Amino acid sequence: MFLKDEPNFKEIMDLKKLGTACKNIQKVSAIDAANRGFNSCVATAGDKSLNDVNCTFCGQCIQACPVGALKEKDETKNVFRKLRDKEMTKSALDYVDGIGEKKKAMLLKKFGSVKKIKEASVDDLIMCKGISEDLAKKIKAELQD
Ligand code: SF4
Repeated sequence: MFLKDEPNFKEIMDLKKLGTACKNIQKVSAIDAANRGFNSCVATAGDKSLNDVNCTFCGQCIQACPVGALKEKDETKNVFRKLRDKEMTKSALDYVDGIGEKKKAMLLKKFGSVKKIKEASVDDLIMCKGISEDLAKKIKAELQD
């Protein structure tokens, strides 16, 4: 349960708009009006967290909320922090001992993707400049994990 209404019958009636927005606009029905009278509220089925139901986080219920109790949470800073995080943008090739930026770029240019490199045979890999048989085997071993 994430919204409890004020004891105002007009607002209690308006709370149904949130469930209606979810059901009719987003076609999800993740939330709906629950309980009666002073116990009226908007809740998920089984009073679960929004993360545990089929909520798409579209924000339609925020737009429909009559009392402004639902607010959008700005995650822009977290998104940019994750984009700057080098660990988040690492490739499986970065974990192969003997593969630097140049060899990684060359392999990706030749094969097109890590998936294609993974599918390539050792013989295919050693055809690339600077890739020995040992290194090709290391690449295959690392990408199989
Ligand atoms: S954010 Fe979730 S609960 Fe709100 S309308 Fe969209 S799907 Fe429904």
